[in-house]
Amino acid sequence: MPAKVGIPRALLFYKYSPLWVNFFQNLGVEVVISPQTSKKILNDAIESCVDDACLPVKLYHGHVLSIKDKVDYLFIPRIMRVNKGRHICPKFGGLPEMIKYSLPGLPPIIDVEIDLPKGLRTLQAGRYFSKDYRQISKAYNNALLQLKEQEKKLQNKFTRWQHSDKSKIMVFGHPYNLYDSYSNMNVLAKIERQGLDVWTTEMISDQEIKKYAETYDGKYLWTFAERLIGASKYLLAKGNIEGIIYISSFGCGIDAVVGSTVERIVRRGSKIPFMFLNIDEHTGEGGVDTRIEAFIDLIDWRGKSESNISAHG
Ligand code: SF4
Repeated sequence: MPAKVGIPRALLFYKYSPLWVNFFQNLGVEVVISPQTSKKILNDAIESCVDDACLPVKLYHGHVLSIKDKVDYLFIPRIMRVNKGRHICPKFGGLPEMIKYSLPGLPPIIDVEIDLPKGLRTLQAGRYFSKDYRQISKAYNNALLQLKEQEKKLQNKFTRWQHSDKSKIMVFGHPYNLYDSYSNMNVLAKIERQGLDVWTTEMISDQEIKKYAETYDGKYLWTFAERLIGASKYLLAKGNIEGIIYISSFGCGIDAVVGSTVERIVRRGSKIPFMFLNIDEHTGEGGVDTRIEAFIDLIDWRGKSESNISAHG
């Protein structure tokens, strides 16, 4: 029987899942992914995690609890850096300890360090299942291709959407805030149901992000800041966007700093409407609906009023 590795569907799973899942599968391991976030996962998360953690970290606890008894190992990497010269949230580096000390009765944890500038990659985790370095390396390279393919697909979609004549909204935020539809109360689908296209920063290529981030004259430390600053500069240069919504986690220091920097860039360089949507475990769906509807009404109203004003003055 193949070994079973559990991967919580939370935090950076939303960015790296094609790499992680394919890597273990390529080594003949059975991968068990926790289910989509649900009320039970949220309730278990709140009960088991310290109060002052952000919602995404709390949810990670709930996802671990949902699969811990079904697997031989849990994959909880210690992610330190993914870009040279930039940092990520320190909570990712302390996650394996936080989980070990908060949740009793866990199976062994694969807590390999991932620090890409130092060459430490997911591939270290292969040693749990194979002694053959060539096999591990092949499994990793193949999984990396799957990740790149998924990124490319999103970017191709973006190229097609750029030519669509629907109104477009850019939604900024950490991937886990954007793509966990339970925790964000299905914001992306709600916008699409109103007939608008939704863009996210994952749809812009790393090269474009980097190129436009370099035009920013301030300093930033975070990988996440580079992505959002690059995306904001890109949008200002290309135009073609009717509104920006920034989904942030209540209590996230990085969102507080990056959010205000991005808002300043957008407000200085354009008149694009910009809205923050803060989420935590107490956020009510009715309030989110009202804010989204009001924001879209504002965009419609601007579109109609502007078309009543002669372009020739
Ligand atoms: S970046 Fe913010 S939302 Fe993400 S884990 Fe860190 S504190 Fe939480």
